[in-house]
Amino acid sequence: KKVLTDRINRIEVSATMAITAEALKMKSQGIDLADFGAGEPHFATPRHIKDAAIKAIEDNHTRYTAVAGIPEVRKAIVERHKADFGTNYAVEECVFSVGGKHALFNAIQVLVDHGDEVVLPVPYWVSFKDIIQYAGGIPVYVESSESENFRITAKMIEAVVTPKTKVIILNTPSNPSGAIIAPSDLESIVRLAHAKGIYVLLDECYAYLNFTGACISGGSFTDCKEHVLVLGSLSKTYAMTGWRAGYALGPKALIAAMSKLQSQSTSNVSTPVQYASIAALTASQECIAEMRADYIRLRDRVLEGFKSIPGLTCTVPEGAFYVYPNIKAFLGKGGLNSAADVASKLLSEAHVVTVPGEPFGTTEHVRLSYAVSEDVIDKGVARMKEFFAKLS
Ligand code: PLP
Repeated sequence: KKVLTDRINRIEVSATMAITAEALKMKSQGIDLADFGAGEPHFATPRHIKDAAIKAIEDNHTRYTAVAGIPEVRKAIVERHKADFGTNYAVEECVFSVGGKHALFNAIQVLVDHGDEVVLPVPYWVSFKDIIQYAGGIPVYVESSESENFRITAKMIEAVVTPKTKVIILNTPSNPSGAIIAPSDLESIVRLAHAKGIYVLLDECYAYLNFTGACISGGSFTDCKEHVLVLGSLSKTYAMTGWRAGYALGPKALIAAMSKLQSQSTSNVSTPVQYASIAALTASQECIAEMRADYIRLRDRVLEGFKSIPGLTCTVPEGAFYVYPNIKAFLGKGGLNSAADVASKLLSEAHVVTVPGEPFGTTEHVRLSYAVSEDVIDKGVARMKEFFAKLS
């Protein structure tokens, strides 16, 4: 008898996690790495959030809660979105999950059946494809153009919609490209989907790391709410990746279905984490503006550094904390035949951690997270320059 199910064989280990594991192994051997691999802030979680978690534990907020989260945390999310994006969700239209990835997984499980088409812009965050395939869905890719800064437009989405389309996934700002969707395009896509009865699943994990100042959410188009599911996360916004706090905002019936699935799997998010999240969402949001300013500075530093590497080209990301340089000029040299080769040799020979483009759906790029110190950026860029120079 076969051991593993077909569905588990349809997916791969998360590529970013695989790279992180390899980098950790090298670090434990004492190797000094310039690590641009993991997609997480280099900042510590702000003090007031940590204090709220400690207080919750001291106050014995350590028992099970409602599966979808205590009303206070859901209210805090709803109010935050109302203040920042003009949305009008009720508490029952919010579920608090074990990270944005968990909310995404639950959302796809309740929305996508075998054979349903799910529109997915390329490059895409690694987990989208696998989570769709786990549910039996069929990803329908929408190629973006590097010369247009990887921007996705309403026209591009419209061109691939069919009667089998169930969901359109959007991620703005994007991991890995840092591209954003123009507010007018986002509105057109949401209206198109609403008219056709298609669900827009908007991954807004980097919504607060939008450098253009265009503060917009899929939920902002309140007359189309019925077909919009917003996914959010505290991971990047508040430097809380390890806490595992994310959420979804959407139609009551969908949220109820996601909560039902959560009731049969993880149950509630860790209770002290819920209290810490209330503090994150309700206290002054100044920490976000400070971190965002820092990311812009770090982005500019990497891009400036890249200019000193002949052959390397890179779009200017407008959000998140990734750069997605094109490495085509080096393919065919020094035994490098793919982005995977480039990332692998950058790690083994130059001790620079990057993630190859293939799991994001492109073959000529590597992704670097610049949520690191300036020293790491300078060291990493210098090592890359030397590595690529030796090839030619
Ligand atoms: N969505 C995108 C686009 C991401 O890049 C990530 C994390 O890297 C997530 C969702 C999930 O974040 P978390 O599960 O930590 O909330």
